[in-house]
Amino acid sequence: MTAEGTARISELAERLAAVQRRIGSAMTEAGRGDGVPTLIVVTKFHPAADIRRLAALGVGDVGENRDQEASSKAAELADLGLNWHFVGQLQSKKAKSVAKYAHAVHSIDRTGLVDGLERAIAAEQDRTGRGALQCFIQVSLDDDAGAHRGGATPGEVPLLADRLAAADGLELAGVMAVAPLGTSPEVAFEKLAAMSVSLVAVHPSATAISAGMSQDLEAAIRFGATHLRIGSDILGSRPTVG
Ligand SMILES: *Cc1c(COP(=O)(O)O)cnc(C)c1O
Repeated sequence: MTAEGTARISELAERLAAVQRRIGSAMTEAGRGDGVPTLIVVTKFHPAADIRRLAALGVGDVGENRDQEASSKAAELADLGLNWHFVGQLQSKKAKSVAKYAHAVHSIDRTGLVDGLERAIAAEQDRTGRGALQCFIQVSLDDDAGAHRGGATPGEVPLLADRLAAADGLELAGVMAVAPLGTSPEVAFEKLAAMSVSLVAVHPSATAISAGMSQDLEAAIRFGATHLRIGSDILGSRPTVG
């Protein structure tokens, strides 16, 4: 390994350990005795070599938000057996590509996308026998539509959930949200937790809550997050390209 590679892997190891310590403290503080949330390391804009280093450090779940970047990294790193989580806005025409590598999509926000993913997963299952796609409904927690960070409105969730639950090859995992800018993440994640309760009342197995990024993971854990999506606090700031 090059000296640069060795330095980078120790940097990643330290940052990863620091985030894991924060998760542990937040779980204790929240009095949560359930399983530790799944840590998804969001690797967008960072090179495949970093993902290989993270896998060597025990990371098994990675997140990406653009299909082109995700599909090329997933192909290059196929030997690692990682779970790839798609966390960005997804055009229906990309469903076919995402079905080839994704373990989960966290950004389901409309029924048209469910139709596309159902067809694409069916075709992939015929071809490769892949497992079901884990699907999270992304909910918008913005009152102000102008500040919209993506997602279905709360009113759209029940129909979308029923459609997902009925789709072959797709598994309704639960809800996902990004805390709106400029409001307290506690308020946002409390709303998300309430939506999760309503969803689980109708779909008892859809218990997952994908919430919490570098800045707000403690608040997300307080309100029941089962999946955390952490980028910059592990990888450092993102190169400003694209
Ligand atoms: C980039 C991204 C993250 C990670 O954000 P950080 O602030 O870097 O931890 C999480 N979720 C989504 C949807 C993202 O696009």
